[in-house]
Amino acid sequence: MFTIQTDSQAYIDQESRYGAHNYHPLPVVLKKGKGIHVWDVEGKRYVDFLSAYSAVNQGHCHPKIIEALNRQASELTLTSRAFYNDQLGPYTEYITDYFGYDKVLPANSGVEAGEAAVKLCRRWGYDVKGIPTNQAKIIFVEGNFWGRTLAAISSSTDPSSRIGFGPFMTGYEIIPYNDLAALEQALQDPNVAGFMFEPIQGEAGVVVPDEGYLTGVRQLCTKANVLMIADEVQTGIARTGKRLACDHEHVKPDILILGKALSGGVFPVSAVLADDEIMLTIKPGEHGSTFGGNPLACAVARAALEVVVEEQLAERAQQMGVLFRKRMQELVDSSDQLRLVRGKGLLNAIVINDRPESETAWNLCLALAENGLLAKPTHGNIIRFAPPLVIEEDQMMACCDIIEQTISNFQ
Ligand code: PLP
Repeated sequence: MFTIQTDSQAYIDQESRYGAHNYHPLPVVLKKGKGIHVWDVEGKRYVDFLSAYSAVNQGHCHPKIIEALNRQASELTLTSRAFYNDQLGPYTEYITDYFGYDKVLPANSGVEAGEAAVKLCRRWGYDVKGIPTNQAKIIFVEGNFWGRTLAAISSSTDPSSRIGFGPFMTGYEIIPYNDLAALEQALQDPNVAGFMFEPIQGEAGVVVPDEGYLTGVRQLCTKANVLMIADEVQTGIARTGKRLACDHEHVKPDILILGKALSGGVFPVSAVLADDEIMLTIKPGEHGSTFGGNPLACAVARAALEVVVEEQLAERAQQMGVLFRKRMQELVDSSDQLRLVRGKGLLNAIVINDRPESETAWNLCLALAENGLLAKPTHGNIIRFAPPLVIEEDQMMACCDIIEQTISNFQ
């Protein structure tokens, strides 16, 4: 049984009294993080197997990223885009070269970058493809998640995201995920400007499409003259064992959306990448953000991307992911409590049963926390396991031991 300590309870009560109730956190109150570990206010140490929803790929408080943050914070933090700053230019060159695009549009949160991608896609649809005014359509897939703004929830198929928040954006069509025939059918409409999707669906429960899906999407979008928009906010920056999840099939999206680990989890930094034909359709004054491209974000993001290369985090995620799924598959095979394990690199999930409304995943996460490992359910029957990519092999084996023991002792 997980018991909440007195200090923690005071913080939980305070937050509950004064903060909006739009989250349901696990009852642990964290005050410090280093690498793969976090500590609560009572001093108990946990391994973080969520990594702030894959934002802390480089590990908590990575020294190089924090050094860049501190250095830039005492130099210049914000100019707005009313003026140039000496960090944005070098960062734009670095990130476009890193991912192989002509241009980057800097933003803050993932959902904001998603919105910018939708706007860019529509504008390209009108200016380049020649879609009649206000007729542009974007195709999304069932189970998608790209945030909580009205534009994002308008594409959602999750009732808890939508109920009570209408009316919604028009110009969207939703088709099943991992279904190339449905995509081919939807692309018959000449007013379709783009297809926006996650190469692995994170919030839906780490849903991995069939091999060949990304290639098929690329081919169909090219054939229909429709922009392929990959939301790699959760899957990008080495999480799935490649720099981008699309790299698993050597596919290049027309618009790439990044966020989360682009700052190593230090603060919100996101980006949209595209080539000139798309990016230059938006002119001065037509899109922007006070904080987007601020010098602090540019310095932090550059350091965060450098760490991914220097520490070979994609390769590490790939290797550790194989070990993790092997151990978990053995557990699934020997336990009647679990259905399956799935994922790529270090974005993985265990599906416990067929009942998304059940509380099993939540209770299991409480038991894992008791045993020093923090994970969070996505739905009542699925637990996502996504540790920082800096995890070492012996640490990973020790974590697999904790998960095995917790599950075998779980009623
Ligand atoms: N896109 C994907 C795939 C995500 O998983 C998320 C957040 O979980 C977002 C977009 C939104 O990012 P943010 O919460 O930074 O707005």
